[in-house]
Amino acid sequence: MAFFCGARVRYRELTSCAARIVGKNNKAIITVDQRASPERQRFSIAHELGHWVQDRGQVAVSCRSSDLTPSRLRDFQNDREAAANRFAVELLMPAYLFSEVARNKPVTIETALTLATQFRVSLTAAAIRLVELGSYPALVVCSNKDGYRWSWRHPEIPRSMRVNRSVSRHSVAHSLHLDSVFEAPGPTVVDADDWVNHANVENYVVTEDSVRIGRDSVLTLVWWHDETALSEGRS
Ligand SMILES: [Zn+2]
Repeated sequence: MAFFCGARVRYRELTSCAARIVGKNNKAIITVDQRASPERQRFSIAHELGHWVQDRGQVAVSCRSSDLTPSRLRDFQNDREAAANRFAVELLMPAYLFSEVARNKPVTIETALTLATQFRVSLTAAAIRLVELGSYPALVVCSNKDGYRWSWRHPEIPRSMRVNRSVSRHSVAHSLHLDSVFEAPGPTVVDADDWVNHANVENYVVTEDSVRIGRDSVLTLVWWHDETALSEGRS
């Protein structure tokens, strides 16, 4: 696909950045870190193609690891890195294919792992897309020991619902942060107010599925089995 767009891909050991693109007229060279995982390399190539599509003709961009993160998708009108990530997500997990495969699937880490394998992307990228395009209201939240890092929500989750900034000590994520040998138990029913804050939140439960990712982060899927609780929260 890169070749079709006029871009050659090189695999090198990169130290000052995670990936880069240099292009002029109709030709570009994309360089990705040869030590990265194949999923990471694919995401990086797709991200650099995003820069190429935006700035075809003349481009020279070096992207840091923090730029190449599927969770950085917001404000893409003003953020070139977020726009390149959005392009990568749409290219690697096209909505028309992903929605079909994710339809009526439980919002769990197991589902996200299956989708990650199918689409050859990272667990995080697949989890975000599952929340974005899946059939059920859900959130994906990334946290570390200090608390909330970022989250992504299903379109039916009202904007008024706030995701908690600290990790509840009753959550599975908290146990994963606290105890490095604690094994993730899989989907677990917890109080909704362990994760979010809105009207009537104390009256219902959600399903939490958390796993460790990277060195110090935990990825959590929060799934509303009972959607009526959500509509009450909206009112
Ligand atoms: Zn970039």
